[in-house]
Amino acid sequence: MTDDRCPDCGARVESGREGCQALMDQMRAQSFSDLRYASVIDLAFDAYCMQHVDKYCRSAKSYAAHLTRLCCGIEYAGDPNVYAAIQKWLNGKVALEKPSLLTNLGSMTIADVQDAATIEEHIKRVRAWAENVWAAYAVQHEIARAWVKAALE
Ligand SMILES: [Zn+2]
Repeated sequence: MTDDRCPDCGARVESGREGCQALMDQMRAQSFSDLRYASVIDLAFDAYCMQHVDKYCRSAKSYAAHLTRLCCGIEYAGDPNVYAAIQKWLNGKVALEKPSLLTNLGSMTIADVQDAATIEEHIKRVRAWAENVWAAYAVQHEIARAWVKAALE
């Protein structure tokens, strides 16, 4: 029996998890070849990671990285200075406790973005998807904001 859903995010994609990862790889390749797509690749990747925590958020540090970066993408409009501060903060000695994994990781997935016909539509859908994932993490907004604040200090 073939499973046409990604077991992590629930996206309807051929070959499940692998097919889902292929969509992310494709989006990344697209952002390298066309800079207009690059403007939302960080936002897309962090949303993707927070929906695929087994692979991308195994350690407390990687979990904190993607959660705070998603926070930056949504609440700081992807400010490069905030991304840089987060990176610096994570490179330092920082004691982190990994929050409990959530079961609901959002109702939108990368599959909702893939068939956008135009770049404008693509950007709009990535934003909607990322906001949807961020909203699913509502119970962890407080910790995410506290981490961003610590990174900015
Ligand atoms: Zn998936």
